[in-house]
Amino acid sequence: MSRRYLTVSERRLMVDRAKGRCEYCKCPDDYSLQSFDFDHIFPVSQGGLTLLENLAYACGGCNGYKQAKTLVIDPESGIEANLYNPRQDSWEDHFHWTNDFLEVSGNTAVGRVTIQALKLNRRGVMNIRKLLLIEGKHPPN
Ligand SMILES: [Zn+2]
Repeated sequence: MSRRYLTVSERRLMVDRAKGRCEYCKCPDDYSLQSFDFDHIFPVSQGGLTLLENLAYACGGCNGYKQAKTLVIDPESGIEANLYNPRQDSWEDHFHWTNDFLEVSGNTAVGRVTIQALKLNRRGVMNIRKLLLIEGKHPPN
């Protein structure tokens, strides 16, 4: 069985592990109009299992753009790269904030393909970052 329901305690653990933020775009769930999802990092359609080590807490936008993607062509090198894996990779290794903290920028091919595929700098997310910045709630610690 590759897909199963998560228990309440598993869901709570995942939200806590992500500090209540999308593990890709870093937007907090408290400021999202859509409910967050538990993204299968390695997709169910490719044999990914519903295990905590294969799940990421993701906003509806990031999860919707990611779908079953795992490999994407890096716009800089033209070579295929894996999408960022929140269970194996460090966010800070692959991404950094621009000086105004409104956009995510890629440090690596993994960062660049993830920004492109999941549209991490989409207008709505940047608008939320702008408001959270004013409130002192962005960037995340
Ligand atoms: Zn997101």
